[in-house]
Amino acid sequence: MDQQLQLQQHQQGRSSGFLRPLFTTVTSQSHPAEIRLNNCIAILNLLFPTRSLSRAEISRRINLSRVSVSQAVSDMVTSHLLVETGHENGKRPGKRGTLLRLDSAYWNIVSIDLSQPSLIRGAITDIAGHILIHTEKSIPSTSTITVRTIEDECERLIHTASGHILGIGVAAPGIIDSEGTIIDSSHLGLSHVHLGEQLHHRFACPCFVNNDTNSALLAVRLFDDPTPNMIFVQITRGVGAAILINDSIVIGADHAAGEIGHVIIDQNGPLCDCGKHGCLETLIAAGRLRTAIAHQPHEKQSILHAAGRQLGRVLAYPASLLNIDEITVFGPLDVIDSSFVTGATEAINSFASQRIIHRPITVRRCELGSDVTLIGESISVLQDVIRLPRKQSRLWKTHPSSPTKEDSHV
Ligand SMILES: [Zn+2]
Repeated sequence: MDQQLQLQQHQQGRSSGFLRPLFTTVTSQSHPAEIRLNNCIAILNLLFPTRSLSRAEISRRINLSRVSVSQAVSDMVTSHLLVETGHENGKRPGKRGTLLRLDSAYWNIVSIDLSQPSLIRGAITDIAGHILIHTEKSIPSTSTITVRTIEDECERLIHTASGHILGIGVAAPGIIDSEGTIIDSSHLGLSHVHLGEQLHHRFACPCFVNNDTNSALLAVRLFDDPTPNMIFVQITRGVGAAILINDSIVIGADHAAGEIGHVIIDQNGPLCDCGKHGCLETLIAAGRLRTAIAHQPHEKQSILHAAGRQLGRVLAYPASLLNIDEITVFGPLDVIDSSFVTGATEAINSFASQRIIHRPITVRRCELGSDVTLIGESISVLQDVIRLPRKQSRLWKTHPSSPTKEDSHV
């Protein structure tokens, strides 16, 4: 196969901002730059996040010639994506190969999570998604979140970073287009805000904005779950979903795939913030469930079981339509507990098409913790920066033109 390497057969888009669960290779490989990119991505796939292998072992595992691997590795070491780290164990006769792993020291990524109410969470991570510095900023209400607020958090993080800033990623609730424009985010009170563009203008480095649920799904896929066909549901102040099909995240025609929070479940149900009655959010969002439990504390388990059933019933249709085999639910532990998961499991398997799906659909709680969105957003930045055209990318330039925290400001 050599340079016609196709490590993965994923369909994928090439527009900026399209999230990919893995470092998928480009589809057209006729151009030398694309071949080099594919080889780089294949090596990243193999070593991400913490694996160490020699050039010879990399060559063997991805079925790429030693020459091509050496060229790609040289490029990646120069770009500080990889670093040499010791030698192989000498079990076999002959010269011991030099091990390579991701360079976790040189590049830093700024990751911002706007998914939580009254809180901006931020992190500096390395390129393997490990959080190095963590920040939280309380805000009185969502109405006080502005572009300036977000910029200030980015700047605060940049000043704490010890490495060079590879890029900035913001995970926000709502509909976000591929240019990083927040088309609509009712939770943030933002509409048609060119956040990605404004961040780039302020910091002069690659800046990306993604839907928070899609970002979280990316982390789940890479760190928590091997299933390439799944629905990830986030239940916090609202309810959102992200859909993974054959290892590609579904974005949708209007960048709104997975926006299930305002699907009407009960037309006679409670009034929703959107003005309609009985939206899914009014029935199973964390705040709504806590209120219901506060009124009937002895009924907590039955309330959560019923909420799980509501979700399971709603997801039975897309799960059958798309042959999804796993649902992962992320949310606070006091709400997304075993009763909720049991209710969701029962409902989805009773309403899903059993003639097509011959084994139960698994529903489970996401165990990655509250950093899941920050980690996923960080990985998405790495993915997008790697794919930037070389002329635009600082990644592929060597010292001293690489960005530092000092020169990241306009
Ligand atoms: Zn609604």
